[in-house]
Amino acid sequence: MIIVGGGPAGIFAALELARYRGLRVLLLEKGADISERRCPARVTGECLHCSPCDITTGWGGAGAFSDGKLTLSPEVGGWLSEYADGAATRALIADVDRIYRDFGAPDRLYGDDAEKLDRWSDLAARQGLRLIHSPVRHLGTERAAGVLAAMRAELEDKVDIVTGTTVTRILTAADGRVSGVTTAGGDVYDSAVVIVAPGREGSAWLAEEAQRLGIPLVANAVDIGIRVEVPAVVTDPITDELYEPKLLYTSRHFEDQVRTFCMNPHGVVCTESWGDAVTVNGHSYADAERKTANTNFALLVSTRFTEPFKQPLEYGKSIARLANMLGRDILVQRLGDLRSGHRTTPERLRRSVVEPTLRAATPGDLAFALPYRHLRDLIDMLDALDALLPGVGGRDTLLYGAEVKFYSSRPALDHDLQTPVPGLYAIGDGAGVTRGLVQASASGLVAARAVVDAGRTQAAELEPGDRDLA
Ligand SMILES: Cc1cc2nc3c(=O)[nH]c(=O)nc-3n(C[C@H](O)[C@H](O)[C@H](O)COP(=O)(O)OP(=O)(O)OC[C@H]3O[C@@H](n4cnc5c(N)ncnc54)[C@H](O)[C@@H]3O)c2cc1C
Repeated sequence: MIIVGGGPAGIFAALELARYRGLRVLLLEKGADISERRCPARVTGECLHCSPCDITTGWGGAGAFSDGKLTLSPEVGGWLSEYADGAATRALIADVDRIYRDFGAPDRLYGDDAEKLDRWSDLAARQGLRLIHSPVRHLGTERAAGVLAAMRAELEDKVDIVTGTTVTRILTAADGRVSGVTTAGGDVYDSAVVIVAPGREGSAWLAEEAQRLGIPLVANAVDIGIRVEVPAVVTDPITDELYEPKLLYTSRHFEDQVRTFCMNPHGVVCTESWGDAVTVNGHSYADAERKTANTNFALLVSTRFTEPFKQPLEYGKSIARLANMLGRDILVQRLGDLRSGHRTTPERLRRSVVEPTLRAATPGDLAFALPYRHLRDLIDMLDALDALLPGVGGRDTLLYGAEVKFYSSRPALDHDLQTPVPGLYAIGDGAGVTRGLVQASASGLVAARAVVDAGRTQAAELEPGDRDLA
C-alpha cells in the first residue's frame, strides 16, 4: 500500500495500517524528515522562499511546526461529518485524541467546562456572535514536533518511509483500478491501494491528477482575511478559560460568514509560503519562557463561489500576492490607521503600544490589497469582538495581511473517502475534506480502516500471513 504525504492524514493512515501484520506499506513524502526540517524564517522572520518549504512540507506536514491545537469538535477543522454520521465522527475524533495522547499530547483539556462555556456563549450572543463548543488540547509548537517524531519512531520498522520524494503521477490499470505511482525521480511503485494525503500544499497537484483520471471535482470555499494581534491582556479573560474560542459572526453589511480562527494566546505571528504567495499565520509556544505579551488570531471571511467561477484557490493566491507586491511579503497596519484611511508608516508603528511579533512585516495599507467586501466584513467583526472583549478594536491593534486559507477542491469521494477509481483514497486537507490536525488525522483512520476492511472481505485471496489481520 502506498501513502502519498507524511502529514497528519498520511501518518495516521500509516499508524492504523501498521497495526496489522502482513501489509507492506510505503509512505512517500516530498519534504525532509522531521529532524532535518529547518525554516530560516523562524530565526530571521523573513521568508526565503525555499523549495520545498520546510514549514509546509516534510514529515509531520503543515502540522509539524504548528501550534498543535487539537480541536475536538466535529464542527471545527473539517467536513468529515458529511461522510459519516455525527456519532461516528465523534468516535473517530475520540480515537485520534487518544492516539495523540499515547504519543505525548498533554492530558489537560481547555474549553470543556459547561458553566464557563454557557456564560461566554451568552455574552457572545449579546454581540451577535455565536460561540462554538470545541474543547481544545494544546500541544504547543515545540511539543507538536516531539509527538510527530515519536510517531515516526513507532513506524520506523513497520512502514517504509521515503522522504525527499515527490509523487508526480497516479497510475491506473486497464480495468480502471489504481495500480501505483511514479515519482519525480522516475521510480515506479506498484500497488493496488494508494492513499493520497498531499495537504494544501499538494492540493493543486491532486486536482490536476483527479482531472486527468476523470474524477469529478467540487470547488471548495476560500477563506480570506487578516491576522489580528492585540495585547494578551485584552483576550486573557476568554483565552484563560476556553484557550481557543471559536466565534462566528454574520457581517452587518454583506451578511457574510466571518469567524475567528487559530487563536494563539501569548503567541507569535509567522509567515507561510504557498509557492508564489506568502501568507500570514500564527502559533504559540507551550514553554513559558517563549511566551510573548501579545495574542494573535485570524479573522476569516468564508466565500463559496457559484457558477461559473471555479478557481477559488487562484483567487485567494491573487489577493495574497497583492499584499506581497505592496510589502516585503506581509503587510501590517494599525486598525486606527485603516479606519482613518491612511497607511501605517514605520514611525506610526513605532508609536503603537502593540509591538509586532512578526518584525519582518512591512507597515502599509491593507485597503490596497483586500477587496472592499472582505475589509468591511472584517471591520464589522472587529467591532462585534470589541464589544465582547474591550480593546480588540483599539487604534493600535495590529492587522497583518493577507491570511488566506486555501481549501482544496474536493474530489468525488464515498463514505470511505475512496474516489471513483477503485483503490484510490484521498484524505486530509489536500482532498478538501479537512482543515485541521484532528480531522486530517481522523481521515487517515477512515481510509486505512476501509482498506483493511476491504482486505478482510477478500481474505481468501490473501497470503496465509495476511489472514491474521487482527
Ligand atoms: C503554521 C500553521 C499552524 C497550524 N496550526 C494548527 C493548529 O494549531 N491546529 C490545527 O488543527 N491545525 C493547524 N494547522 C493546520 C494543520 O497543520 C493541517 O490542517 C494539517 O497538517 C493537514 O494535514 P494533512 O496531512 O492533510 O496535510 P499536510 O500536513 O499539509 O501534509 C501533507 C504532506 O504531503 C506532502 N506532499 C504533498 N504533495 C506531495 C507529493 N506529490 N508527493 C509526496 N509528498 C507530497 C507535503 O510535503 C506534506 O508534508 C496549522 C497549519 C500551519 C501551516
